[in-house]
Amino acid sequence: GLVTRGTAMDRAHAVLRETFGFSAFRGLQEAAVARVMDGQDTLVLMPTGGGKSVCYQVPGLARTGLALVISPLIALMQDQVAALRQLGVNAAALHSELDPDDASQVWTEINAGRLKFLYVSPERLLSPGMIDRLARQELALIAIDEAHCVSAWGHDFRPEYRALASLPAHFPGVPRIALTATADERTREDILGALGMPDAERLVASFHRPNLHVAATPKASELRQLTSMLDAHRTGASIVYCGSRAKTERVAATLAGQGWPAIAFHAGLSPMEKRAALMRFRSGERIVVVATIAFGMGIDRPDVRCVVHLDMPASPEGYYQQIGRAGRDGEPAHTLLLYGGEDMARARHWLDQSQAPESERRVMSARLEAMIALTETTGCRTQALLACFGEVLPAACGHCDNCAHPVASFDGTDAARKVLSAIYRTGQRFGAVHVASVLRGKSTDMTRRHQHEGLSVFGIGKDRSEQFWRGVIRQLIARGAVMTVGDYNGLALDERVARPILRGEVPVLLREDTEGALKRAALPDR
Ligand code: ADP
Ligand code: ZN
Repeated sequence: GLVTRGTAMDRAHAVLRETFGFSAFRGLQEAAVARVMDGQDTLVLMPTGGGKSVCYQVPGLARTGLALVISPLIALMQDQVAALRQLGVNAAALHSELDPDDASQVWTEINAGRLKFLYVSPERLLSPGMIDRLARQELALIAIDEAHCVSAWGHDFRPEYRALASLPAHFPGVPRIALTATADERTREDILGALGMPDAERLVASFHRPNLHVAATPKASELRQLTSMLDAHRTGASIVYCGSRAKTERVAATLAGQGWPAIAFHAGLSPMEKRAALMRFRSGERIVVVATIAFGMGIDRPDVRCVVHLDMPASPEGYYQQIGRAGRDGEPAHTLLLYGGEDMARARHWLDQSQAPESERRVMSARLEAMIALTETTGCRTQALLACFGEVLPAACGHCDNCAHPVASFDGTDAARKVLSAIYRTGQRFGAVHVASVLRGKSTDMTRRHQHEGLSVFGIGKDRSEQFWRGVIRQLIARGAVMTVGDYNGLALDERVARPILRGEVPVLLREDTEGALKRAALPDR
């Protein structure tokens, strides 16, 4: 129309103040709103809690017509609809859990031109007749929330999102705004390509969350490390991520047995159990949720004070999103990742065995290696994490584990050669515990049964502790010199990396896993 940008933005500011009660836009919100008011396509990348909703809710109200919001999860939609209604905005969601009477009520509102926001899942949007019915309405905008779901490069690919590419054909001239909290450069391009919006402006906010204190430490005694972290955070909520459903149940039961207000959460719970767990989590009471990554989107509690990973996430994107659930109120929050070499090797092994197409496996493998590098990094961990998203933090953060307690390293060339020899001499099929026993010259059932006590490597590492050798093995796994084989995590050499080390051609610098470091990293810094 003839409305100039100035007056359109005046209207947007008025909506921000009068409907939302905010005095000013935050960060990139204003630029995003201006684009949509102008009728242009936009991609918004903001960390969780950055204020993405305002980017489409303000222009949705400031423009005429119905704002269509595509969202992957019913829980997310319900939260947003409830929040808008609380502000006096006519909003509704169409999803599979809605009964037909309620759905027809929603259509009455749409057809009367009264509804301002309609949330739909992509499946629902693409169901027969839906697009035709919507095409009769004037649309203010189309918002695509959790836009990374459209990308096979993303960590949460949903094939239904692919069909959203056809939207411009049905709704010509309607501005689209895609929003996500996680997307590396590659995923960004993929989102814009898959949605068919090559001219979209990319608005990328900083992912730095200065109130998050990140730490990672090798597993020594998992439960003790976990409880000392929980002990230090006795207010608000804590989230403990595990790699399997069974483990969430086991850990939650153990914690509950020790008097912690712990519950398990995973995709195997019934809808009723899930709802009950979410209700407790949201109620504001003190709680420890032991969960798989199914405990994810839509989790919005401001006072999550700590997030502990008992197993390594599969990618830096997933890791960032999971730790990002902590400290949304801006107050300090602590995160701790516990990791082990066997976990890393197992993750690589699973990927190798996966039936996924080669191209997908390559992506997943690149992500996994980035995650392993992030885990073992000796520099500022916050910088390393942000670097995964293409962001350069100009100075070290000063409060991650590595900044607070610089990692000591030592020349581990000799130790590495001893480990590699021991793995080789014992036949490349025994696990880390056995290899460490052989190095230490410790007589066990296994060393006797397999006649390993007569080997030249038996006892060549007598002078060092079991923990020392486990640390060396883990780091050799992390750098790819050692891999696991078979169902029992037997260790074997990866010739290409191991041979130059064995020949003494490459020096091996290792990080010192002191007992102090293992304990300290589990505690918030003082
Ligand atoms: P995201 O969807 O990016 O995770 P939200 O849209 O839920 O973030 O916003 C996070 C929080 O920030 C909400 O509590 C919201 O009310 C608040 N917020 C967003 N924009 C502003 C603003 N311009 N001024 C003040 N608070 C804001
Ligand atoms: Zn740091």
